[in-house]
Amino acid sequence: MSNNDASNAAKQPTNFIHQIIEQDQQQGLEKVVTRFPPEPNGYLHIGHAKSICLNFGTAEKYNGECNLRFDDTNPGKEDQEYVDAIMDDVRWLGFHWAGEVRYASNYFDTFYAWAQHLIKEGKAYVCDLSPEQASEYRGWATEPGKNSPFRERAAEESLDLLERMKNGEFDEGSRVLRAKIDMASPNMNLRDPILYRIRKQSHHQTGDKWCIYPSYDFAHGQEDAIEGVTHSICTLEFADHRPLYEWFIENLPVPSKPRQYEFGRLNINYTVTSKRKLKQLVDEGHVTGWDDPRMPTIQGMRRRGYSPQAVRNFCDSLAVAKTDGTVDMAQFEFFIREDLNDNAARAMCVMNPLKLIITNFPQGEVEMLSAPVHPQKEMGSRELPFTRELYIDRADFSEDSTLSRKKFRLLVPGDYMRLRSAYVICADEVVKDADGEIIEVHASLIPGTVGENPPEGIKPRGVMHWVSATEGKQAKVRIYDRLFNVESPDKGEGDFLSNINPDSFSETVNCWVEPGLVNAIPETSFQFEREGYFVADRYEHSAEHPVFNKTIGLRDTWKK
Ligand code: ATP
Ligand code: MG
Repeated sequence: MSNNDASNAAKQPTNFIHQIIEQDQQQGLEKVVTRFPPEPNGYLHIGHAKSICLNFGTAEKYNGECNLRFDDTNPGKEDQEYVDAIMDDVRWLGFHWAGEVRYASNYFDTFYAWAQHLIKEGKAYVCDLSPEQASEYRGWATEPGKNSPFRERAAEESLDLLERMKNGEFDEGSRVLRAKIDMASPNMNLRDPILYRIRKQSHHQTGDKWCIYPSYDFAHGQEDAIEGVTHSICTLEFADHRPLYEWFIENLPVPSKPRQYEFGRLNINYTVTSKRKLKQLVDEGHVTGWDDPRMPTIQGMRRRGYSPQAVRNFCDSLAVAKTDGTVDMAQFEFFIREDLNDNAARAMCVMNPLKLIITNFPQGEVEMLSAPVHPQKEMGSRELPFTRELYIDRADFSEDSTLSRKKFRLLVPGDYMRLRSAYVICADEVVKDADGEIIEVHASLIPGTVGENPPEGIKPRGVMHWVSATEGKQAKVRIYDRLFNVESPDKGEGDFLSNINPDSFSETVNCWVEPGLVNAIPETSFQFEREGYFVADRYEHSAEHPVFNKTIGLRDTWKK
């Protein structure tokens, strides 16, 4: 699929959520409002990117608005670091949230008043069962639960206890506020669910103001209602919570009536998309951080050199379905390659240098050659200094001149090769050190062959990349590959950590790049001819210390 097909596809009402919206518009809906509601307890990953593209993309498509709202009801696991990274990620993907960033904690006072409202209406009560007793009373999916002995407690008493819970008078776990719904409901979520828990924890937004925090269920729908969200899109695991979502909307004096819709989570093979597991990879040092280029986090993908447009094209290509699905990593990588092939500047980098001396080119002289930045697109040209001493890749030379030309496009003694955007040369002689290792190849150039065919009878074996040894720059190149070498790292017998690909990272410090590359702006992508796609590292690349990360190879080497 080309870029164009992908963006056209995104404009059609192809998914069931868009169909619902269009029906709602026929019924008079004026403005579509969605929200992306991350909990700031980790970094966002490719699955979240799908949710971001769906929520922000849907709002864009229908000229509506999408809010960014932190679902920060669980302070123990949350952190400002995550809040900052998430905002950075959404902006990087190119989306704009409506108004200020929002926090569930902005509404804590309202939630508290609504809890009091439910108590007064006889629809909520403070329950003193211990967590163990409460779970016993809850029953099983196949067996109804039992009413808590505190269920009929007077409203005044519950109001008083709730106030004192809030003020920190009781220990964590000693009491909770519960909705009074139905202990016999076949849906466990309706068996008097918890609205508030005692948690004596400081909160990154509200400090020490609260000793009680609302549950996800008691917060989410109300947040949507306060913000005027029309379509609250979440993943399938919340389908069973929908009746509860609707119960709160029905039973509280909310200012609007949002509706919840569920779609399937995105899973990709050869990686994990569980925040808990990603955090474990970071905490235990299996990767260098949340932004390690092997991580499926948005920060990791960014550092790896994936462009926001490629990530969006991929997300937009995915079905929005009512079942969870696993997508092949190769499908994602297809979009990464397609985007880079279209947009990355071409450049030359020699990863494993071998000196090539052009014996008929004068010492000290520099001839400026020019090469297109992109072979198909109008992206201008770049200057390539040609000198007597060059580097070529060790893997591009062989002493065996009997190698078949068809199979091996290697430089061999006595034969011809074209240097990319430069001369045709002939390898004449090999210089070895005391151990017999080749340290130099001596060659001669055929004059007049820059951009011109060589004279009759001279047929180069192929085209090779090269860098001037005197004008080029030394660079550090980090080679990345898939983090796991099995399709389902978190399924099966062993720990997912045992499936880490030991060859997923290596670093080479003695690479040579054409001189223009040291001035690359961090995060600029290149195709290093014949090697793959690389990006100037977001944080460490500089003119003094050039650092490039491998984004992906030119072809899929994982295909079975
Ligand atoms: P947690 O276990 O911490 O809740 P989470 O992955 O659900 O983890 P959230 O911060 O709650 O993370 O997710 C924010 C939004 O992104 C939610 O609406 C969630 O449904 C959606 N989301 C999370 N993971 C995926 C995924 N793999 N595919 C699609 N959407 C996802
Ligand atoms: Mg979640």
